[in-house]
Amino acid sequence: MQLYHMTAHRLQQMLAKGEISAEELCRSVFQRIDEVEEKIRAYITLDRENALQQAKAVDKARRAGEQLPPLAGIPVAVKDNICTKGLRTTCASKILYNYVPPYDATVMELLHDAQMVLLGKTNMDEFAMGSSCENSGFYPTCNPWDTDRVPGGSSGGSAAAVAAGEAVLALGSDTGGSIRLPAAYCGVVGMKPTYGAVSRYGLVAYASSLDQIGPFARDVTDCALMLNVICGHDPRDSTSVPYDKPDYRTFLTGEIKGMKIGVPREYMGEGIDSAVREIINKAVRVFTDLGAEVEETSLPHSDYALPAYYLIAPAEASSNLARYDGVRYGYRADKSEDVVDMFKKTRSEGFGPEVKRRIMLGTYALSAGYYDAYYNKALKVRTLIKRDFDRALEKYDLLLAPTAPGTAFKRGEKVDDPLQMYMVDICTLAVNLAGIPAISVPAGNVSGLPVGMQLMGKPFGEGEILRAAYAFEQCSGICCQLPD
Ligand code: GLN
Repeated sequence: MQLYHMTAHRLQQMLAKGEISAEELCRSVFQRIDEVEEKIRAYITLDRENALQQAKAVDKARRAGEQLPPLAGIPVAVKDNICTKGLRTTCASKILYNYVPPYDATVMELLHDAQMVLLGKTNMDEFAMGSSCENSGFYPTCNPWDTDRVPGGSSGGSAAAVAAGEAVLALGSDTGGSIRLPAAYCGVVGMKPTYGAVSRYGLVAYASSLDQIGPFARDVTDCALMLNVICGHDPRDSTSVPYDKPDYRTFLTGEIKGMKIGVPREYMGEGIDSAVREIINKAVRVFTDLGAEVEETSLPHSDYALPAYYLIAPAEASSNLARYDGVRYGYRADKSEDVVDMFKKTRSEGFGPEVKRRIMLGTYALSAGYYDAYYNKALKVRTLIKRDFDRALEKYDLLLAPTAPGTAFKRGEKVDDPLQMYMVDICTLAVNLAGIPAISVPAGNVSGLPVGMQLMGKPFGEGEILRAAYAFEQCSGICCQLPD
């Protein structure tokens, strides 16, 4: 197997034993990028020279006998809405096409402390609004399993990079499924941690009460290793929660006897492909064989998650995106008559159609006269959805569901029908409204395309989710299949 296709924990051992150098590994990944990037287009910006410098520095430190952190020298890709000091951060938007942040996001500082090697910044739907990566202001990313298909979104570039061997690990952000959906479509592991478990400082805001940064990995062990790096309290993010961060690897025992798992019937009914349902039912059998108690349950307000999300997220987005006006940074329209005209032209030319749609939806929902009818009502529905999860998670350790209703769809198939596009998130949105953690792990294939299984857990219950996901992975042997 080529280095670029290996898991981080395997590479970590080879690096530690001196069988390979970080520079060799970095060169191997860039060689792969040179081979396949033209057809995948996972990246917006590559940072080759700096990456090689970082890799060489790790090798030098190792040669000097320094004690290195576990992921030192592992190449990582980062979604382009996470601020990287001195490296362009565009959010895949024309309005930020030239924005170079003067500071690092907290997660970037943590990756640097871990001595990981930053390869570059990955493509996404503009400002993380979308489910297919087709809303990128630059170009769409393609699914490595079938390049006519979408990789899912909005963190499509990160998922595609890990699946295609263009990165060993990656970071994305998940507001309504943007890590889990592309992980499912690309056949990799993706996790949205509990709201407040990972700092959002330096993550460009889409919907602040829902956004959360999380990892993409080739298996559950790598996912745990990455969580070890990025989780933890950060005083610079007021919504970050102080908590005792465990070593997530300690949960990877394979032991889940007696674990109680609920399968919400609302996630297995109408709108879910029968082939997907079959794969999830097979997964349930794996869990039963492993000694877990699995039964059907209900999250009665599930139908309202999509409408509530599409009021709350655009409302927050309309406020968050007010700052892009061409004054301080980013794109500015020329030939304006006055300052108001400049704002108008800058925003009309700088934002893509989906972002404009969200700003209009959100402004409408927040405007006088509609605020109570829409926004406030959506907040109440959010509470009901959260209570559904609280109740279910009192009885069950975890909830199990498909990550998406189907497999990766063809590019262009849903672009003209926003509602169809929004519907692909029906299995993932509610988790963000409730603030709980969830993982997507590969559970099988339909016609050569990966299907993801989602495991949802209690707040700060990432460890239990990883425990179950790892046991499933070991027992089913499904993880780590990557396209050639
Ligand atoms: N597809 C959803 C949206 O467009 C979720 C995106 C996300 O999680 N960032 O809003």
